[in-house]
Order: sequence, then C-alpha cells, then structure tokens
Amino acid sequence: MAKIKKIAVLTSGGDAPGMNAAIRAVVRAALHNQLEVFGIMYGYEGMITGEIIPLKSRDVSNIIHRGGTILGSARSATFKTPEGRRKAYENLMKHEIDALVVIGGDGTFRGAGIFSQEYDIPCVGIPGTIDNDMYGTDFTIGFDTALNTVVQALDKIKDTANSHRRVFLVEVMGRDAGYLALRSGVATGAEGILIPEVDGQIEELLDTLGHSPKTSRIVVVAEGETEGGIHQVAKQIKDKYPDFDIRVNVLGHMQRGGSPSAFDRFLASRLGVEAVQALLDNQRSIMIGFERHDVVHVPFNKTIKQKPLFNRDLMNVAHLLL
Ligand code: ADP
Repeated sequence: MAKIKKIAVLTSGGDAPGMNAAIRAVVRAALHNQLEVFGIMYGYEGMITGEIIPLKSRDVSNIIHRGGTILGSARSATFKTPEGRRKAYENLMKHEIDALVVIGGDGTFRGAGIFSQEYDIPCVGIPGTIDNDMYGTDFTIGFDTALNTVVQALDKIKDTANSHRRVFLVEVMGRDAGYLALRSGVATGAEGILIPEVDGQIEELLDTLGHSPKTSRIVVVAEGETEGGIHQVAKQIKDKYPDFDIRVNVLGHMQRGGSPSAFDRFLASRLGVEAVQALLDNQRSIMIGFERHDVVHVPFNKTIKQKPLFNRDLMNVAHLLL
C-alpha cells in the first residue's frame, strides 16, 4: 500500500460545537507526522466545486474554543450521484490528496464509504453531531455542549414558569433520537419527558401533571417524539386541564451553537489525533469512536447500519425522580 503523504479534512451534515477542535487536532497531528494537509470547504460540496485550501498549523490557531466549523458544512445532493463523486475525485487528484478525514454523522460516513470503494481513497470518520445517535461511540462531538445549552435554557424557563405557575412544553433537538431530551430532562428535574424511543407516554404524562405540585411544570419534548408534535401535546394537556396556563417553547438552532464544552474539546482532540494515526496505520472506512473512556475503531458499515441501544435504565431514573 502506497504511503500517505497528503490528506484532506472536511466537516459535513449538521454542524456541531467541537468540530473546530477536531479540525485543529487533525491538522496538527498530520503536520506532526510530516503530512501535508488540506481543508475542504462546505463538506462534499466543496470537493465537487474544488474549494480546497492548504492548512498550516497557524490556520487552526484560536479555534479550539469556537462553535460552528471554520470549514463550513453542507448537505450535498450532487455527491450522491456517480458524476458528482467523479468530479470530487478529480479535484482531489489535482492536489494529489491520498486520504480523507470526514467529520459528521452517519450520512457523511455513508458517502465516504461509497467514495472510498469507488476510488480507492482511504477515509476515516469522526462522529460530530449534537444528536448523539451514532452506533459505536458513547459520545459524539457536540452532544455535551448542546446538552449543557439545553440545561441552561431549561433552568431559565423554570424561573419564569415558577413565577407564573405555568406549564412549559420545551422542544429540544435530536432528530429521531431522544438523548438530548432524556438527559436534559433528568438534569433539570423536568416533570415530563417525551422521547421517540418510548411509545404511549401521553397518558402517563397527563397523569403526572395532574398530581405534580402547582408551581412550575416543565415537560421536555424531543423533536422526534411520536405523539403528533409539541402543539398537539399542548392541546391534549389543555383539553384535560383547561385551567392550566400552558406555553410552548421551541429551542431551535441555538442548541447547535456556542463555545464547545471542555469535554467536547477533549473528545475532538483525542479523536482527531487517532483519525490521523489510523490513516498512517493503513486503516480505512472506519469511524473513530469513544467507548468506556477509550478510542475504538468501528467499521463504517456497522455504524451506518446499526442504531445505538436505548438505555432503559436512564428512562427508569427519570420516572423515579419525577
Ligand atoms: P449527517 O452526516 O449529519 O448524517 P447527512 O445525512 O445530510 O448528514 O449526510 C451528509 C452528506 O453525506 C450528504 O449531504 C451527502 O452529500 C453525503 N451522503 C449521505 N448519504 C450518501 C449516499 N448514500 N451516497 C453518497 N453520499 C451521501
């Protein structure tokens, strides 16, 4: 196998705090190993349009604490076509790029797996998404920061909810996973938590709300919950308890931003260094995950096809503490 000399790094899919720390780690680890490094702008889209820039050590100075991604991110429909991937390959060849580090979610790894097979370019992935919904890693980069952002928001909402004796339904992100909702609900002592992994929660919620003290009541609603959406849930509560003063609050994209937490900076640094090492060890089509406080290598086809096991114990903890 030819020795790798030039690598490129990109961020793709939904952005997450800590992606910059991962870019920095990849660049510095690569330079430390005498590799040349390039940054590809806006994910696979920049690979197709040829927005590829050299990255030196100073280019990644002062970004470890910044949210978002200095390389930009995008969802690229063109990369899903063979013609798009051919164009992308041609652009990599113009710079003689031998290997890729892709930072993103399962869609990003699916694209990298297909591309790597078609064009014999080794690709290694780093999990970056606030949703924490990846098989093969206990944590994805960005989850811890987003969780802390949600907890801060819920604490603030609780203050105003208390003052007015209101019921607040708060929608948090997570696509079809309930990690952010469940953990933030437990961490703030929410009166109710609705997540996609559990069916038929509305009756129990209505029951709990009827019994809980009439000060503030906070219900954390995952965006992917299956009761018909946060406004439908609010309506059902209002129908049963017409006296309740109910407010709906959708937290939205503020959950994706902000300075990464210490944990996300550490995780990104650790995984970034390991991704470069894996490429130097001739590994390919794997995600670098983090399980039981250590790095692990997980084949793309496993992490793409499987969903992480839902931890019922945590749901039990939430119920016990309501
Ligand atoms: P995430 O990586 O956060 O899951 P997406 O699902 O949007 O985000 O995937 C990111 C990008 O990966 C897509 O916009 C697309 O360019 C690429 N991608 C996803 N699935 C495929 C596929 N089957 N073939 C080629 N590229 C893909």
